[in-house]
Amino acid sequence: MNKLIRSLHHVTATVTDAQQDLDFYTGLLGQRLVKKTVNFDNHHVYHFYYGNEAGTPGTIMTTFPYEGRGVRVGTKGAGQITVTSFSVPAAALDFWRKRFADRGQAFEDELSGFGESIIRFSDPSGLELRLVGSARDERVPWVLPDIGADRAIRGIHGVTLLVRDPAHTIAVLTDLLDGAVIGTSGGTTRVGINGDAPGQIVEVTLATNESAAVNGLGTVHHVAFAIGNGEQQLEIRDQITRRGLHVTEVMDRQYFTSIYFREPNGVLFEVATVPPGFTADEDLRDLGTALKLPSWEEPNRAAIEAGLPVVTY
Ligand code: ZN
Repeated sequence: MNKLIRSLHHVTATVTDAQQDLDFYTGLLGQRLVKKTVNFDNHHVYHFYYGNEAGTPGTIMTTFPYEGRGVRVGTKGAGQITVTSFSVPAAALDFWRKRFADRGQAFEDELSGFGESIIRFSDPSGLELRLVGSARDERVPWVLPDIGADRAIRGIHGVTLLVRDPAHTIAVLTDLLDGAVIGTSGGTTRVGINGDAPGQIVEVTLATNESAAVNGLGTVHHVAFAIGNGEQQLEIRDQITRRGLHVTEVMDRQYFTSIYFREPNGVLFEVATVPPGFTADEDLRDLGTALKLPSWEEPNRAAIEAGLPVVTY
């Protein structure tokens, strides 16, 4: 065991409309917009980060609203993260059912194979989401006047990967990313990353008849795992290379540094540092209020702002 990885860091998805995305994640789900920036690989597209007050690693959902930018609708399938789960207090599920019903958000009740009550629903772009009721999530949530601390989302609970060959994915999670198998249910193996708390869960589900995934609108792009610092990131990068997997160089993502690699079934994994975090360029109380650009994009600010859709929140 390395004991370098702490938990999940964030989940990133390609979505459709920017305003709908903001309304859904901040309005309906009550997450804080902790950063409004642009896609560092395409500055005509926003990059929204949602999370708790500070955007603590493990609470962060990030989206690229690509509507109108020539990206096709994606296909959910094998070799992809097909479900993103958020954690709420188990006693709050009735509150969420009522909130969804009152606001016309379709949902279904489920029992997970691991004993939790679940609400399954979709976001406006078609991403499959779950609220997982947990009695043991100690994380401090972002609260709103109409979503108190006893009801609010604590953060990401976990992700579900649909793959053709689960054993190879599970081996990478356990050998490289400090995972341990917690249990199995049907075709799903639940792995805990450096523990088994909400925010540390990866489920690996056997794909049977599903076609291969195609990245695009309404699909998850990658999941990131949190690591303490850049030195440890280089250490794990070396371990990934020695395993024969191709891994990128370290990339500056402004709020963390990142490396990326594909696990054997093709799902894109990222390892992202905890520091410096979202207060690198904004005070905690102001997070998400202004369009923030990395220093290398500041000279293009006027053109970038002119090319982005106007959003309110
Ligand atoms: Zn990422």
